[in-house]
Amino acid sequence: MKREAVNFINNLIKKDAQTPFYFYEMSVLENTLKSVAALSGNYGYEVHYALKANSNDTILQQISKYLPGADCVSGNEVKKAIETGFDAKKVVFAGVGKSDREIDYALDQNIFCFNCESLQELEVINQRAALKNKTAHIALRINPGVNANTHHYITTGLEENKFGINIWELPSVLLLLKSLSNLKIIGLHFHIGSQITDLQPFRSLCLKVNEIQDWFDSQHIHLEHINVGGGLGVNYHEPDSAAIPDFAAYFKLFNDFLRLKPNQKLHFELGRAIVAQSGSLISQVLYEKIGIKTRFAILDAGMTELIRPALYQSYHKIENISAASDGNGFLYDVVGPICESSDCFGKAVPLPETKRGDIIAIRSTGAYGEVMASQYNLREIASSVFMP
Ligand SMILES: *Cc1c(COP(=O)(O)O)cnc(C)c1O
Repeated sequence: MKREAVNFINNLIKKDAQTPFYFYEMSVLENTLKSVAALSGNYGYEVHYALKANSNDTILQQISKYLPGADCVSGNEVKKAIETGFDAKKVVFAGVGKSDREIDYALDQNIFCFNCESLQELEVINQRAALKNKTAHIALRINPGVNANTHHYITTGLEENKFGINIWELPSVLLLLKSLSNLKIIGLHFHIGSQITDLQPFRSLCLKVNEIQDWFDSQHIHLEHINVGGGLGVNYHEPDSAAIPDFAAYFKLFNDFLRLKPNQKLHFELGRAIVAQSGSLISQVLYEKIGIKTRFAILDAGMTELIRPALYQSYHKIENISAASDGNGFLYDVVGPICESSDCFGKAVPLPETKRGDIIAIRSTGAYGEVMASQYNLREIASSVFMP
């Protein structure tokens, strides 16, 4: 972690800040936003920020200054996006289980588009829109059958996944749409998974989208936009030197391989790539425990503050920012206080000798960290702190 951030945290602790807390480096967030806004703008692409990655108000207010579009997966996210400065006319609403109440709310806000995930959902949105005498703009979320090569819990683009409509269902979808007079299809939507660091799956996605587009052409259906979702990964091993993902290569790939039709716009929904590297979870060592083969560092943070390692064995860089050097130390199992064996942030983590009271930074927690906090074991929700 950078010296400046370490000093900032040490000052807070001296002033009795209660650990654990979420720590955000706003300069990292801002530099990331400048990069993604400029590089997507070069191609005329539109990026909707995926609120589910981090919906902290301060973070959202900053993001909406650079990216006015939002990708929401619940009615409350639509509401939160609008409250924190995103443009309702640039809100997309996805999710396999939109309730009637959520659909009604989004219709009232005149959002840009519903990304629809099943035939029955199309019928329900049509009914709700008819009650309001409105036309709902929709995109079909299609399962392209592309393997994202990421953890199976965060792979979403394969058949027999709960997400999206399968390609073989498309003829019946078009037939159905003819009878739904309060829907207008304006686009196609895809999202193949998350934390994708090798760009090859995105290339496969482009080629698949080209094929699917040709089929829609043959059906004489003109689509105003293609939305390729999100999923661009970050480097969890190098949070400082690789703070900003390679957006240039990412957007260039779509420019190179995805054939847009005339007047068609390309949309993205990025979450993790925008917010992950700006956040760290800061905690203190409560106890050291030396077993037969294993040394444990027991933290005051647990899976209640960061569930990713317990939920999908994800790696986060762990640093002891109190210890004088990174020099010779030990291998530690870094664990939390929660009564679950999966409450472990990392096994055999090399750390300098680590003592009760040392401050531990768990890095790259800006995405899917604070948003997934829970009160399991009746714990308090940790506060968040922002460094300019
Ligand atoms: C989760 C999600 C995203 C964002 O994914 P990231 O990996 O955080 O970029 C985008 N679109 C949809 C539909 C999602 O479910």
